[in-house]
Amino acid sequence: MNFNDTPEQTRFRSEVRNWLQANATPKPPGEVKALQPAGAEGSVNYIDAQAWYKKKADAGYACLTWAKEHGGAGLNAIHQVIWNQEMAHFSEPDNYFFIGQGNCGPAITHFANEETKLKLLPRMASAEDIWCQLFSEPGAGSDIAGLSTKAVSDGDNWIINGQKIWTSGAQYSRYGVILTRTDPGISKYRGMTMFMIDMDQPGVQIQPIKQMDEGHHFNEVFFNDAVVPDSYRLGEIGGGWGCALTILMHERLAVSSVQPTGFAEFLATCKSLELNGEKLINDPVVRERLASWYCQQAGILNASNRMFTAVAKGGMPGAEAALGKLVGATMSQEIANFMCQQLGQSGIIMEPGYSEFDAHYQNSLLLAPGIRLAGGTDEIMRNIIAEQVLGLPQEPRADKGMAYSEIPSGNTLTQ
Ligand SMILES: Cc1cc2nc3c(=O)[nH]c(=O)nc-3n(C[C@H](O)[C@H](O)[C@H](O)COP(=O)(O)OP(=O)(O)OC[C@H]3O[C@@H](n4cnc5c(N)ncnc54)[C@H](O)[C@@H]3O)c2cc1C
Repeated sequence: MNFNDTPEQTRFRSEVRNWLQANATPKPPGEVKALQPAGAEGSVNYIDAQAWYKKKADAGYACLTWAKEHGGAGLNAIHQVIWNQEMAHFSEPDNYFFIGQGNCGPAITHFANEETKLKLLPRMASAEDIWCQLFSEPGAGSDIAGLSTKAVSDGDNWIINGQKIWTSGAQYSRYGVILTRTDPGISKYRGMTMFMIDMDQPGVQIQPIKQMDEGHHFNEVFFNDAVVPDSYRLGEIGGGWGCALTILMHERLAVSSVQPTGFAEFLATCKSLELNGEKLINDPVVRERLASWYCQQAGILNASNRMFTAVAKGGMPGAEAALGKLVGATMSQEIANFMCQQLGQSGIIMEPGYSEFDAHYQNSLLLAPGIRLAGGTDEIMRNIIAEQVLGLPQEPRADKGMAYSEIPSGNTLTQ
């Protein structure tokens, strides 16, 4: 691995730096933006985020790795890393629409026809159209292939009935990518089909889910005879699992951005705090914890750099992303918990105006459990690492070889 910029990358970095200095708001000195997971709703306004994305797109910096005709910049994953590194010095909501651009976009690139790509991708890249990912259901999360939302062919259309849940950003979304059951009579993996769906239609109802941090990041989405034209099908009928795997591969890249950024700011914050009249960082227990978190963040940063290098050379994201997500999400939760304790009584004040660091750590603490679930739970990340890195045997699959309709469940669709 060589992490030094090539001459071309040096040129790109300075071009990006100059543009950001002219067009983005620098982080105020001492601002704690560390450890904020990507896509968190937080205080960032969706409209502000859309305006930032449009500005980036107009300057040619949207979706750097996508083809130019699809609204991207025709660059590679290393350029994206350079962008992220430079962006870390600015306050703009830069990773806000990662579900659409990071997950749905690649599915469309792989499986839609060129006419559809030219029509939909540039508007996705500039965030004029927001997209959501409609996979999880009340009875299917980690085992997404157990889903029951059904799509039935009707002439040139498909009729969709069922329910999705935990759909991030559905309330803002013009379109979604939805995974459905099209044939319950065969194996659960082979009987699924993926579609793009217009969310703005009478058959789609969105119910907010209120979070404990008072945000409303995700939703339940109900489909009652929702209509999707066959031209919005992604891949073959019955090819949904293959499409889903493509999305999940790319989701790994996106979730690996859960790794904490701004560790240096966090350390600086610790150095500024006192405990019982002594500097906090002189406490041996605190020093031990800081050292341990330092090692973890350095490890996931290097693993992530290795993954981006592989992707830039045409490879696929590997199990490093699972590692980054598992360690990074747990560490973010631990640090938020630690900081709320160090802040004493003010650690429980949620009102940004009265709370130190604008209640950053309080918000992180409430958000952290969700981040450990989203994009694959801790246990699923451990399974990936066990099977793909350590070479341990696969989990036993009790429903192997069975038709979906024969798998015992409470779903009426399987009857
Ligand atoms: C903030 C957030 C945003 C999300 N956004 C979206 C979105 O936009 N679109 C979308 O489709 N979904 C979204 N999700 C849903 C997310 O993908 C699921 O929550 C996740 O896949 C887990 O599924 P589940 O909640 O049904 O839990 P389950 O799969 O029911 O898991 C319950 C528990 O069992 C454990 N478990 C399950 N299977 C295994 C196994 N094989 N081995 C060991 N342990 C296991 C899990 O680790 C977990 O602890 C989001 C979730 C969150 C928290």
